Amino acid sequence: VDFKFVRDNVEAVAANCAARLSCADPQRVATLYEEYVAAQQETDRLRAARNENSGAMKGKLEPEARAALIEKGKGIKEELEGLEARLAALDAELQREGQRLPNMTHPDVPIGGEDVSTQLQLVGQKQSFAFEPKDHLQLGEDLDLIDFETGGVVSGAKFYYLRNEAALLELALVNYTMHKVVAAGFTPMMTPDLVRESVFEKCGFQPRAENTQIYSVKDSAMCLTGTAEIPLGGAYMDAILPAEQLPIRMAAFGHCFRTEAGAAGAASKGLYRVHQFSKVEMFVVCTPEQSDALHQQLLELEVGMYAELGLHFQVLDMASHDLGAPAYRKFDIEAWMPGMGRYGEISSASNCTDYQARRLNIRYRPQPPPAAEGDAAAGAPEGKKGGKKKGGPAKAPTQFAHTLNATACAVPRMIVAILENYQQEDGSVVVPEALRLYMMGIDVIRPKK
Ligand code: AMP
Repeated sequence: VDFKFVRDNVEAVAANCAARLSCADPQRVATLYEEYVAAQQETDRLRAARNENSGAMKGKLEPEARAALIEKGKGIKEELEGLEARLAALDAELQREGQRLPNMTHPDVPIGGEDVSTQLQLVGQKQSFAFEPKDHLQLGEDLDLIDFETGGVVSGAKFYYLRNEAALLELALVNYTMHKVVAAGFTPMMTPDLVRESVFEKCGFQPRAENTQIYSVKDSAMCLTGTAEIPLGGAYMDAILPAEQLPIRMAAFGHCFRTEAGAAGAASKGLYRVHQFSKVEMFVVCTPEQSDALHQQLLELEVGMYAELGLHFQVLDMASHDLGAPAYRKFDIEAWMPGMGRYGEISSASNCTDYQARRLNIRYRPQPPPAAEGDAAAGAPEGKKGGKKKGGPAKAPTQFAHTLNATACAVPRMIVAILENYQQEDGSVVVPEALRLYMMGIDVIRPKK
C-alpha cells in the first residue's frame, strides 16, 4: 500500500472509499502511518545512541565511567526492546488496515450503484421467437445435456454434469477461445486450481473473511481458486521485469470454485450460478503507460469473440459500487438471455493498475532515457563500464507494474446464452458456426431417440 499517498490525500481516499461502499478507514491508516514513522525515527535514534554508547566503552576507562556507560546501555536496550515491539505491532495493524483500502477509481467511472453503469456498446439484436422459448434447464433436460440431479447426489446442490453435446460444447468453447487469444498474442497456460492463501491476499482477495466466496482447504494454507487470475498474478510475484518485456499477456484455462454464499433468486438458476465452472481468463502485466490501452484491447477481444458467436450483448462501464477492491475501472459484458428475459453478465475486464502489483511486488525497470549526444557511456549495457562515466549509465529505479484481468470465456453462462438463443421450434439447438470446427462436425443438437 502506498501509505504516503494515503496520508497526503486522506480526503480524496475517504471520498473514494465512500464512492465504492468500502468500510476501510483511510484516516486510521494515515494516523497509524504517522505513528509508525515517528516510532521508526525514534528506534533509529536509539540504535544510534546504543552504538555510540558501545563505541565509547571500547577505549580505556575509569571503572566508574565504565559502570555509568553499562548502566546507560541497559537503559537504552530496555527502551529499544519496548519500541521494537511497538513498531512491530504498529506495522501489523498498518498492513491490516491498509489491505482493506480499495484501489482508486478512474475519473470516467460512474459513481453509484448498478443502475448508473454506462452502456458503452450494444451489439447484435434480441432474438425473436415465433414460439414460446424454453430456458436452458428445460432445453438441457429435453436434449439430455445438463444433469443437476446426479450433480446433487454426488457433490451437492449447484453441482452438475454436462452430457453429450454439452460436454463437447464446453471443450469447443475452450478451444475456440484459446485459438482466438493465442492468435492475438496471449501465451496459453494451464494453472494450478489450489493456491496458497497468501497469494489470494496479495491479489486483493480475503479468503477467510466472513461470507467469503472462496473455499479453503481444512488444516492447510491452501484455497481453491475462484479464477485463474490468482495463479496468473502469483506467477510474477517478486519479479523485476525489464520494461522491454512488457506487456506480458497470458491466457489460462482453469476451474473456478465459488461458495456463492448469499446468492439466491432467478439469477442463480441452473448453470447461471454454480459452485464449479471452467473459464479461460486473460491476464496482463504491463507498464502504467500501457494499461488503459490494453484494457480497451482486452474489451475489443471479448467483443470480437462474442459477436462472432452471434450473441446479442451490451458493454457496460461499471459503476463504482460494483468494482470490487482491486479494479480501477471495469467493463462488463452482458448477453441477452431469453430464459431470464434480461441481460446476464458473461464477462468482466478490469484494470487493476498497481493495486495487485504492489501487494504481489511485481516491478519493472524502465528503460534508461535516450543517450545525450557525446555521452560515450550512454547505451552501454547495464553494469558494464563505458566511456567517461564509470560504470555506464545509471540504472533507472524500479517501479510497480500494472495488472489487468479479463474473462475470455466463462463456460456455463456461454452455454446458457447459446442454448437459449439458438433454440429452434422443433426443440433442437443450432451450434454457432464459429464453434462447429471444434464440435466434431455437429451443427445441430437434436433430441435423442
Ligand atoms: P468474475 O471473476 O467474478 O468477474 O467472473 C467472471 C465471469 O465468470 C462472470 O462474468 C460470469 O460470466 C462467470 N461467473 C461468475 N460466477 C459464476 C458462477 N458462480 N457460476 C457460473 N459462472 C459464473
